[in-house]
Amino acid sequence: MMSDDCIFCKIVNGQIPCAKLYEDDNVLAFEDIHPIAPTHFLVIPKEHIPTLDDVEEHHTKTLGQMAYVASQIAKQKGVGATGYRQIVNCRESAGQVVFHLHLHVIGGRKMESMG
Ligand code: AMP
Ligand code: ZN
Repeated sequence: MMSDDCIFCKIVNGQIPCAKLYEDDNVLAFEDIHPIAPTHFLVIPKEHIPTLDDVEEHHTKTLGQMAYVASQIAKQKGVGATGYRQIVNCRESAGQVVFHLHLHVIGGRKMESMG
C-alpha cells in the first residue's frame, strides 16, 4: 500500500526521480541524495513499510532480498572486498528521518569500529 505523503513511495512510482541502481518487483536501489561516503546508496522495499519494527513475517523474503541486492551492488561498485556497512535506522533515536524502510549501504572510506 502506498503512502501519499511518503517521499520513497513517490520515488517507487516515479513521481520523484532517483539515480536508479537496481529494480525488480519487490525492491528498488538508488543513490542517496546526500552521500556520507564515496559509496552511499539505499535499498528499499517497494511496499510502504514505515520502520523495521513494522516488518511482518510475510516481508522476510523481501528483507533478505534487500540485503542480497545491497551486497551485489556493493561488489559492482568495488567496495565488496574492502568492506562496507549495511545499516537500517529504526525510529527517531537511531536517526530515522524517512519513514519508509530503507537499507543504507555505505563504503569507500575507513569507518571506525563500533565496539
Ligand atoms: P534515514 O535518516 O535513515 O531516514 O535516511 C534517509 C536517507 O534518505 C538520508 O540519507 C537522505 O539523504 C536520503 N534521501 C532523502 N531524500 C532522498 C531522495 N529524494 N533521493 C535519495 N535519497 C534521499
Ligand atoms: Zn512509502
